[in-house]
Amino acid sequence: MAIAYIALGGNVGDVRETFRQAIAALCAQARAGLLARSSDYRTPPWGDTAQADFINACIAVTTELAPHALLAALQTVERRFGRDRAREHRYGPRTLDLDLIAYDDMRLDTPDLTLPHPGALARAFVLVPLAEIAPGLMLGDTRVDAALARLPTTGISRLPDPGAD
Ligand code: AMP
Repeated sequence: MAIAYIALGGNVGDVRETFRQAIAALCAQARAGLLARSSDYRTPPWGDTAQADFINACIAVTTELAPHALLAALQTVERRFGRDRAREHRYGPRTLDLDLIAYDDMRLDTPDLTLPHPGALARAFVLVPLAEIAPGLMLGDTRVDAALARLPTTGISRLPDPGAD
């Protein structure tokens, strides 16, 4: 049994509802158990800035799947929620993006999967929700909270829990 950290993002449609459904689908698809779920955060678009704000969150799950099988499960869930990689451009609008940020303390460098996720340490929109559920997690040699302390978080705001006034 491994513990995996997964980042969610999207900026098309009812993203928070997509997250809710995608997390349930992923847990079924990946035979995963949900250990923790961060709040949702509104974050400024990154890369291509001429698009709607994103919503980002992170979850921690237990899984019996090996890393590549888990990545395949993430991509199946992305497709199910309308993501069409062939029609989108890098850093452009998307309904749902699921990234495998860490899988236990595994380090992996293969053509289709790098662990920990190579972009995570530079992206506040990943580290802010991740630090909420796992501040002491090591991404390579760096703690999540230490990496976050070095990044600007301007424009990132925590959204109230759904159902909260
Ligand atoms: P993106 O379109 O930004 O979600 O990138 C997805 C591509 O990155 C896929 O082709 C994956 O095979 C590759 N990739 C490499 N490492 C990872 C990772 N840790 N999590 C998710 N995708 C990854």
